[in-house]
Amino acid sequence: MEQIEYRIKERTRKIQLPTNLGFGNIFTDHVLEMDYSKEKGWNNPVIKPLENIAMHPATMFIHYGQAIFEGLKAYKTVNGDVVIFRPEDHFKRLNISAKRICIPEIDVKFMINALKELVNIERDWIPETQGESLYIRPFIYGSDPFLGVNPASSYKLIILLSPVGAYYPEGFRPIKILVQDEYVRSVRKGLGECKTPANYAASLLAGHEAMQKGFTQVLWLDGVTQRYIEEVGTMNIFINLKDEIVAPKLNGSILPGITRKTVIQLLKEWNMNIVERDITINEVMEKYDSGDILGIFGSGTAAVISSIGWLTYKDKNMVINKGEPGKLAIKLFDKITSIQYGIQADDHDWILNIDNKEVEVN
Ligand SMILES: *Cc1c(COP(=O)(O)O)cnc(C)c1O
Repeated sequence: MEQIEYRIKERTRKIQLPTNLGFGNIFTDHVLEMDYSKEKGWNNPVIKPLENIAMHPATMFIHYGQAIFEGLKAYKTVNGDVVIFRPEDHFKRLNISAKRICIPEIDVKFMINALKELVNIERDWIPETQGESLYIRPFIYGSDPFLGVNPASSYKLIILLSPVGAYYPEGFRPIKILVQDEYVRSVRKGLGECKTPANYAASLLAGHEAMQKGFTQVLWLDGVTQRYIEEVGTMNIFINLKDEIVAPKLNGSILPGITRKTVIQLLKEWNMNIVERDITINEVMEKYDSGDILGIFGSGTAAVISSIGWLTYKDKNMVINKGEPGKLAIKLFDKITSIQYGIQADDHDWILNIDNKEVEVN
């Protein structure tokens, strides 16, 4: 594989992060970029100073939406190591998204090793406080200038880094969710399982209207019957019932979250009855009325685990666990974050220490 070119800008000032980092406002000094052309394939990887992108107004993805992205995190552990959580799963998922919208796949092993180099160069940007981390945003877009609906013939890949704090202003406080039945996010055989900006475009109006009504996010129902619950915009959802924990089954319109996969694996190891199945909003309301809901929570890289305290569907308001974080949500959050911050050993091979030698991929 090709050598990375390094164009590193010398740091003249000490990095100073604000006390309240927020999410997605601050970027590090360098990005990784790579190009794709039909003749050369993926080529010209370079780590270079962050700068604006100049592009032709006909650049294809602006008009036709051919773009995909990933979101993963690097952490500084209590031992001072720098680790990345499940990078192989994230780059493999990038390739699954790529296939769905005709973007050429990347070499997973090359990308992991290139990301290690980039994170190492920017390691002083990684916050040390627990709850804070370095958010990693790889993305790819069709870059040739052409008006016409075709897959592009050239592409750009960029990895952008952003030091972040809590995703929701509520922190670990439970959030308020509106069950959305006015709009749909995706449909089976559509783009739901692809991490592409189009799904977010479809979600904006619903999210905006929910916020105006005082909710943090919306819970999407399936796009065809609007009876089955799917996911919470940027998170997958789990319903903790008395005799089982339900995760809506991956059916093609739900994004297959890597945190979701992590949660399911842990619940199985804890011998809990985790079931991936279809579940209707009516069933959720019935289980609420019979007192069978112990907790509801979301999972995603940005917030890790986020407890849902209030769920509203039409004129029914459900208060989950008295609006307090559920026991299971807390236990999962503690377990996953302890592994990420090096407090507990990682016996799953989820953590990649960036100072390890070259990574092998299965
Ligand atoms: C990224 C994403 C998630 C969460 O996936 P993770 O891999 O756990 O971060 C859930 N839903 C949607 C729509 C997403 O884009």
